[in-house]
Amino acid sequence: MPLEYDCPVCANRARLYDVVDFNKSCEESNGLFLPLSGTPVYYALCSHCGFLFAPEFQDWSREDFLTKIYNDDYIVVDPDFEKKRPEESAAMLHKLFGDHKKKFRHLDFGGGDGEMSRRLRERGWDSQSWDPFFDPASSLNGEKFDLITSIEVFEHAPDVHGLMEKLTSACHDSTFIYFSTFTHDQSIRKNGRIDWWYISPRNGHVSIFSKYSLGFLGDKYGFKFGSFTDYLHCYCKTVPAWAEHLMV
Ligand SMILES: [Zn+2]
Repeated sequence: MPLEYDCPVCANRARLYDVVDFNKSCEESNGLFLPLSGTPVYYALCSHCGFLFAPEFQDWSREDFLTKIYNDDYIVVDPDFEKKRPEESAAMLHKLFGDHKKKFRHLDFGGGDGEMSRRLRERGWDSQSWDPFFDPASSLNGEKFDLITSIEVFEHAPDVHGLMEKLTSACHDSTFIYFSTFTHDQSIRKNGRIDWWYISPRNGHVSIFSKYSLGFLGDKYGFKFGSFTDYLHCYCKTVPAWAEHLMV
């Protein structure tokens, strides 16, 4: 295992940071501990932008991810995936943007089986979903959207530039991208070892961002970056009138 890598976000030096067992999952925060897999997963941390990533996943194929992570047991480590998160996210988005729903076309990027988008359509939205694992045969066909959401997607992307290129292919100049991923401020160690539930390879969390690294990445694609919390963020070139109320 090499000790140093080029940071995929900013190209500065990233060194190995720590290693966890492949079966480390987010559900450990709820008391569920899977048996050790025996497979170590190393994470490297960029000394400049703070991007934390697992280099070995960058070589995984779609089939590798489907076989080893997004398989029948995935629901065990992400029980909110099927119903709870889609409904809560739809309710949150409808509260934020629902008053303006006739003014935009919406894409849920990385939207799994499309459950959140279905729930937004039930609320009167012009919404559709696309996901690289659920809809691999379909493309976005060059369609452009006004509002793109991407809920808990960035941390799953082994190729951050592939993610951004696909995202930007669906953007026009005033598209508003509203997305969620937990960011870190590098206080994620305790006694010299990783101590944060979010760094969980069994959940497919292979790319962990700092706010600075999200800003750096967005800037490469011409986006301004903003954060509302440690979890909710946006990329845009200009803020559409129907999103200005978020900027206060
Ligand atoms: Zn970096």
